[in-house]
Amino acid sequence: MISLSDIRAARARIAGKIVPTQVIRSATLTERVGWPVHLKLEHRQTTGSFKLRGASNAIASLSGEEKARGVVAASTGNHGRALAYAAKLEGMRAVICMSRLVPANKVEEIRRLGADIRIVGSSQDDAQAEVDRLVALEGLVMVPPFDHPAVIAGQGTLGLEIVEAVPEVATVLVQLSGGGLASGIAAAVKSMKPAARIIGVSMERGAAMKASLDTGRPVQVEEMPTLADSLGGGIGLDNRWTFAMCRDLLNDVVLLSEDEIAAGIAHAYRHEREIVEGAGAVGIAALLAGKVKVDGPVVLVLSGRNIDMDRHLDVICENRERAT
Ligand SMILES: *Cc1c(COP(=O)(O)O)cnc(C)c1O
Repeated sequence: MISLSDIRAARARIAGKIVPTQVIRSATLTERVGWPVHLKLEHRQTTGSFKLRGASNAIASLSGEEKARGVVAASTGNHGRALAYAAKLEGMRAVICMSRLVPANKVEEIRRLGADIRIVGSSQDDAQAEVDRLVALEGLVMVPPFDHPAVIAGQGTLGLEIVEAVPEVATVLVQLSGGGLASGIAAAVKSMKPAARIIGVSMERGAAMKASLDTGRPVQVEEMPTLADSLGGGIGLDNRWTFAMCRDLLNDVVLLSEDEIAAGIAHAYRHEREIVEGAGAVGIAALLAGKVKVDGPVVLVLSGRNIDMDRHLDVICENRERAT
């Protein structure tokens, strides 16, 4: 397991490479649930998501020889963008493999950062097969999006910032896909506040970690298009880190419909005046849907903002009347 000291070491390693993001109190959500609700504004992180924390820590942990070989990753978009950004700062080569499900705006941003792009197949598994091929063929160093100690420790730095900003936190709502974010935050928060509850939030359409936790081992689920595109993809049948950490550290996992996720995006825009992508909005959505029992101060993470802006406009317009 990743420990608090791993996470503190990651924080020192990535200081100056990421921005420590603000935590603000949401008046409307506080009124709605009857306890203080705080938003961790991580969608304002450089590259538009928390993924820069893990990617920066992973790159900073490479040897000079590994840096010279370059890095490769499969991604639903945000990890690729973060890795491409961090690699560019170091003058390193980065190859990012993505499926056709990754939105065009995300692919374009990665291209702009100068990374090599491979679009393969229609799932994260297909993209990962291309990564494995490139590792074998070209000797690139793989930096996985979640199942990697340096990545988990990097994402865990968010947990340190959460407890520092809201020491009285009782419940943390965290996005759950491959589980790097949830494992890192849970390891940090529970080391400092063992009584705090950590709740994972996924979409109903293809929640691989939830299915795996229910089964007791990593299982494959069909990947489907969803508004929360950053939460798509499996956890890897050979998962080494995040499955066990999520099993041991998460108190519960809740799932959301596409309509509930849309309502979360609309609420973030209308009431918090924040533009977030579907994955970024699931914490808000879970509270609005009444799917989380609240019995103390809540912190929820806005994890990313890299939504196609025309799609965002559509969601806002379609949810005009419903946004409450
Ligand atoms: C990657 C991502 C997640 C999920 O993180 P995991 O570590 O895969 O669970 C959530 N939100 C956004 C915006 C992401 O990019």
